[in-house]
Amino acid sequence: MSAALNLLRAGFDVHVYEQSRVLREVGAGINVTPNAARVIHGLGLGDKLASLGVMPMAVHQQRWDDGHTLLRTPLGIEIERHFGFRQ
Ligand SMILES: Cc1cc2nc3c(=O)[nH]c(=O)nc-3n(C[C@H](O)[C@H](O)[C@H](O)COP(=O)(O)OP(=O)(O)OC[C@H]3O[C@@H](n4cnc5c(N)ncnc54)[C@H](O)[C@@H]3O)c2cc1C
Repeated sequence: MSAALNLLRAGFDVHVYEQSRVLREVGAGINVTPNAARVIHGLGLGDKLASLGVMPMAVHQQRWDDGHTLLRTPLGIEIERHFGFRQ
């Protein structure tokens, strides 16, 4: 859909076909990476994204039985500094 919107903005004749009769929430959270967030902002949907989402601070993987940290990857401000855009 992002590709279709951007191609439309660039002046192409765009047609989007969808087989589903209804588009609805499927119960999954979506991780919006910085490159995707940049595109969403470029489409003028940054405020909408901010109103629907939260900014994750880190990915934290722990061992199931004792809570021992296996991996902790900082996100949030750190990822903005690294990639030039927030997640
Ligand atoms: C479990 C899971 C979790 C994911 N989590 C993330 C995430 O956190 N962050 C992230 O960035 N990405 C995530 N992804 C990947 C992301 O969902 C896809 O990259 C993205 O949806 C691709 O978008 P698309 O528009 O190309 O295709 P789709 O979203 O698959 O859309 C294709 C559409 O075409 C329709 N269609 C199919 N065949 C026809 C036909 N013959 N005629 C008409 N319509 C048709 C389908 O009904 C569908 O609505 C996840 C994927 C899965 C499966």
